[in-house]
Amino acid sequence: MTTQEVLSPPRPDFIAGRKKNLIGGRWVDATSGRKIDVVNPATGGKMCEIAASDSTDIDLAVSAARSAFEGEWSRWTPHQRRKLMLKIHDLVLENFEELALIETLDMGAPLSRTKGLAEWTSQVLHFFASQCGAGTVATPENSLPGDFLTLRSLAPVGVVGGIIPWNGPLIGLWWIFGPALATGCTAVLKPAEDASLSVLRVAELMSEAGLPDGVINVVTGFGRDAGQALAEHKDIDRIAFTGSIGTAQSIVRASAGNLKRLQLELGGKSPDIIFADADLDKAVPGASMGVYTNSGQVCVAGTRILVQRSIHDEFVERMTEFTKTIKVGDGLDPNTQLGPLISQRQLDRVMNYIDIGGGEGAQLASGGGRLGGALANGFFVEPTVFAGASNEMTIAQEEIFGPVASVIPFDEPEDALRIANDTPFGLAGGVWTQNLATAHKVSRGINAGTVWVNCYGVLDPAVGFGGTKMSGYGWKGAKEHVESYLYPQAVYINL
Ligand code: NAD
Repeated sequence: MTTQEVLSPPRPDFIAGRKKNLIGGRWVDATSGRKIDVVNPATGGKMCEIAASDSTDIDLAVSAARSAFEGEWSRWTPHQRRKLMLKIHDLVLENFEELALIETLDMGAPLSRTKGLAEWTSQVLHFFASQCGAGTVATPENSLPGDFLTLRSLAPVGVVGGIIPWNGPLIGLWWIFGPALATGCTAVLKPAEDASLSVLRVAELMSEAGLPDGVINVVTGFGRDAGQALAEHKDIDRIAFTGSIGTAQSIVRASAGNLKRLQLELGGKSPDIIFADADLDKAVPGASMGVYTNSGQVCVAGTRILVQRSIHDEFVERMTEFTKTIKVGDGLDPNTQLGPLISQRQLDRVMNYIDIGGGEGAQLASGGGRLGGALANGFFVEPTVFAGASNEMTIAQEEIFGPVASVIPFDEPEDALRIANDTPFGLAGGVWTQNLATAHKVSRGINAGTVWVNCYGVLDPAVGFGGTKMSGYGWKGAKEHVESYLYPQAVYINL
């Protein structure tokens, strides 16, 4: 028996055979019968198969979601929906060990992270459950002459199409299902072809909790087939998309046919600014994990670390030391902090960027290689630090989506802001300083949807996050998110 077998919990029974789509309350295979192999990114080995669906399957799912929207579900009161959401919450949390294990095996993130998501899932479901009834009638003050009763209410937009990436499906699915259930919409979700399993298992649990057939539907498949069909579908009212800019542009074009409402949560190249007066005991691990969490496959990753020149060398030395303490390995090992990248394709992409960084003259201070030995078949990359980088370099301009940090020196706060904002993206940013005035001025000066001061990556669903510039539009979490699943309707009653 190998060490790996001793450490590993048994693979859940769920991960076996051919997984099916959930359409109208029934589990069905893709009509074409085509499939996609599901690979464990830590070993490169095949675990099971999912359906490779296409436009026919999307048609069926959208039609089921439309029937559910117009049927029984439309008569559910906010109170009934809230009760159901809380039941789903309990069932999901009861099964969280299994869900975490499925997520780890499917997309590589360590169990320490996927189990940690339980608390977050609880928060997000509670938040959306508290929003049921956001569409109930409001009566504004009447400014019309004569006797009028005017009502302004918020109605559910209808059938929502969700398209999510592979880097955190167990989080991503609630950004679609949460607001849909809270507002009385129905949904068709297409998870990423590289990580669909946890979404399918959660869908099972949601059905078990008593969700009416067709309220949520899950259709797996490739973006160019199932994703494109969903984006084009004339009976989808709103698309909530999380993913890359190129795909977003294609979805914008595809949505034109029936003028769908869009929410686009895209990538980033976020600046994390370290001033000379920062508490480096906190800033070094904080900024490092701001890049490396989830092996760098995080949209808000603070991959451009801007360090005031007087402490650049000390910072790089300490970051390099810290980086060497990070345990990279199979996510099933309880000591693992960083797992593999999602796929061979992503591994090749990240290694190519590391070559480009060296070629552009950035100094490779730490990492830069793949992991060998027992991990050689998995898609592992060492946490990598490039020091003395400049913002014009490709590694500082393009989203790598891997564990690669570019440390860029700056002199004055204005220089830091100029560099921070010299990017097509506007998703997030960070500031590390002990000076309140610097914290305030610099955080306000960063053109991004979220800025963290003396911390990185925390998220409250009641506050939410979103992007500006090429990082997209629409807000996840908070009232804005719920309201974007509703449309206002005015009724003027002449008394
Ligand atoms: P991607 O755009 O390649 O894929 C995302 C999803 O879109 C997948 O489900 C895919 O199948 C689907 N898709 C692909 N082509 C499509 C098409 N033509 N029409 C419709 N759907 C299509 O992105 P990715 O590489 O899987 O994910 C990484 C990207 O996601 C990064 O840019 C990352 O920053 C971004 N991301 C953003 C956030 C955020 O909230 N801002 C969160 C996580 C990830």
